[in-house]
Amino acid sequence: MIAKVIVDVAANQTDRMFDYLVPPEFEQTIVPGIRVNVPFGPRKVQGFVIAIAEDSEHDSSKIKPLAELVDLKPPLTEELLALSTWVKDNTLSFHVTVLKTMLPAAMRAKYDKRLSIHESLDEGEVPESIQPFFPETNEIESWEKWSKDASELDKKVMMTAIKEEVVLVTPLVKTSDSVKKQQIVNLMVSKKDLEKAIESTPSRAIKQVKLLEFFISHFEDESEYTLTALLEKADVSRDTVQSLRKKNLVSIEEKAIARDPYEGRTFVKSEPLLLMEEQQTALDPILDSIHQENHQTFLLRGVTGSGKTEVYLQAIDQVLKKGKEAIVLVPEISLTPQMVTRFKERFGSRVAVLHSALSKGEKYDEWQKIREGKVDVAVGARSAIFAPFEKLGIIIIDEEHETSYKQEESPRYHARQVAIKRGEYYKAPIILGSATPSLESYARAKKGVYTLLTMENRVNHVKMPEVSIIDMREELRSGNRSMFSESLVKGISDRLEKREQTVLFLNRRGYSSFIMCRDCGYVPQCDHCDISLTYHRTNQSLQCHYCGHSETIPSICPECQSDSIRFFGTGTQKVEEELLKVFPEIRIIRMDVDTTRRKGSHEKLLRQFGEGKGDVLLGTQMIAKGLDFPNITLVGVLAADSMLHLPDFRSGERTFQLLTQVSGRAGRHLKPGEVVVQTYTPDHYSIEDVKSHNYLSFFEKEMGIRKQGGYPPYYFLVIIHVSSEQLDQVVSVTEKITHFLQRELSDQTFVYGPVASTIPRIKDRYRYQCMIKYKVEPKLTNTLQEVIKTYQSETTRSSLAIHMDMNPYMML
Ligand code: ADP
Ligand code: ZN
Ligand code: ZN
Repeated sequence: MIAKVIVDVAANQTDRMFDYLVPPEFEQTIVPGIRVNVPFGPRKVQGFVIAIAEDSEHDSSKIKPLAELVDLKPPLTEELLALSTWVKDNTLSFHVTVLKTMLPAAMRAKYDKRLSIHESLDEGEVPESIQPFFPETNEIESWEKWSKDASELDKKVMMTAIKEEVVLVTPLVKTSDSVKKQQIVNLMVSKKDLEKAIESTPSRAIKQVKLLEFFISHFEDESEYTLTALLEKADVSRDTVQSLRKKNLVSIEEKAIARDPYEGRTFVKSEPLLLMEEQQTALDPILDSIHQENHQTFLLRGVTGSGKTEVYLQAIDQVLKKGKEAIVLVPEISLTPQMVTRFKERFGSRVAVLHSALSKGEKYDEWQKIREGKVDVAVGARSAIFAPFEKLGIIIIDEEHETSYKQEESPRYHARQVAIKRGEYYKAPIILGSATPSLESYARAKKGVYTLLTMENRVNHVKMPEVSIIDMREELRSGNRSMFSESLVKGISDRLEKREQTVLFLNRRGYSSFIMCRDCGYVPQCDHCDISLTYHRTNQSLQCHYCGHSETIPSICPECQSDSIRFFGTGTQKVEEELLKVFPEIRIIRMDVDTTRRKGSHEKLLRQFGEGKGDVLLGTQMIAKGLDFPNITLVGVLAADSMLHLPDFRSGERTFQLLTQVSGRAGRHLKPGEVVVQTYTPDHYSIEDVKSHNYLSFFEKEMGIRKQGGYPPYYFLVIIHVSSEQLDQVVSVTEKITHFLQRELSDQTFVYGPVASTIPRIKDRYRYQCMIKYKVEPKLTNTLQEVIKTYQSETTRSSLAIHMDMNPYMML
């Protein structure tokens, strides 16, 4: 018997199946999808069994036997194995890279297994052949240890028993990540005592006084802080906190951080709502597809607050009633806790959550529940599309336009494509939901490739929020130099009076904080990348966001020796400071990378805001999605156009999508909502159409521009990235590739390049690219594979790297 194996060596030369002899004791157990250890050159490597054959086409005397089985049961289903081949072909990736992507990280390493006799068997029913293996208990703790001493016949017998499910296998994947601890500071005394303490503290102990004052002014809000949060909020050092502890004013203790943010949470069971007419009209064709088991892709365009989630929930309900399973993809799961909660509330413990903030072990636990059929709904980010279900009945992709569904490293797959492929296999419907579908998807729906479902109204006929566009140039002309327009200030003060809540959104993509010399305009750049360094306030440093290089802030300009080197740009901290100047009493909950680094903190901040503990929720991209709080009646957008000028043909689309999404947070329930959008380009259509909530108008205009420029969805794109430490090598290789493509591909296909990438150097590697635009190009895959082959030896020998990105989302 021969096993055809893909070995775990990601290289062009090894990207094919190798034959191995299956030793007789493994014959019973080995099936496609199992991993094995095999001799490969001088080493032993792991590999995936893709197929089993009777004989090999190669000289069988030269075929080596495989060394051992890594799994006793295949982690990958046959469907996923077949899918892996498809993904590899469509993304031009190494097969083994795709296979590994399908498994949770904890599963990639070697692991031991526990064997146990099936519980349902009574003593008398246990086959005699295996009784000697279990002399005392019904368990063998370690397969590894046992198989070392066992004879080949014993192993064979045991494997038969495993195959017949008389003996069960439990993988012992290491899931016991060391428990993380954090330090908790508790206030031990009353407000009066704190005031007394200030009086008795010498005035030169400025920091202690500052901390005491902080405790007094926040006394009503909180009495317990994590040490790190306290240091940041009160802006003091550890020593200061320690000195208060010595005076017994506070205590400091260590607490384990909850591993799972949902752990210990009880979810109140929710019942299906009576649907609005539009929701019912959208749901019906989906139900038909579920019942008739015909695969269809639906595009559900529903305005923000139209109740898309309820449609998803009721569709899944039907799927579960048929004994099938569901996958729900959300853009970045840790950013949408409210969404996850709604699935947990409806389906309880039948939901596995593949949360990006989970540790490797926890992710493995959730994955294993799916593999063992213990759950039937998986909610997760992009990689959850590979959830190993075997009776899939529906796949839902919420916010389908989000670019995070495309993986930006090999394999560069798009979850939408993979979803449709799996849907075909299982004859299951796919729902792509969004208030602002990607141009690609909407164009496909218009052509009838996808079935279009539309919900134009909010639930209960709640009105769409009133959007006003504020021209910040006008503000400046009329003498307002602050970052808040008059309308916004008025809006916020109005909400404060009415005790309603405001969301302030700072669009920071393509817009970072940097320092600049006011005299000569010098901006510090990274030594290894051609990009400006970003200013980090928390540790007063300059950092490169591409390579991580960090340096101190120069006090004088290295170019002109001037000392007026200053910070430019706007961060959330800066906005917070400025806002406090206008409204000294205002309670701000700030949400950005700095305040949400800790697991669960994102959810906690949101909960606090939901409980009314803040007047303003201030944040970046991460507050744009999925917020549903009845008391939010004002949304303010600072710098709406900051990403409009990125060198990317999708920048208009992204601006429209983001603004629509943020605006959608306002007035979702009884109280009417208002949105104030501050911009320097008020006439741009992707900002104007947000005001009128007019997706269709935006779609038409944007399509016109795409047609003119020859961009998707009119053309497909491929970008070929070439990089190397040697500039001349990059240039000449990119040039040769470009010419080769021009020669090989059809006349209707355009090949552009070579050009230097937008960031011409990252981590000391020079970067060039060329681009292919095509409509129909049957020779594409072969030609690109040809390119990879041609440079195969050069990429192994030198620092040259070539990456192909089919349907790229990152143009930089
Ligand atoms: P979307 O995802 O389209 O932005 P949601 O699904 O969040 O909208 O729905 C908006 C709000 O309306 C939620 O609070 C939801 O609970 C509520 N809702 C949805 N459908 C109904 C319904 N049929 N009846 C009453 N309330 C509903
Ligand atoms: Zn200078
Ligand atoms: Zn750098």
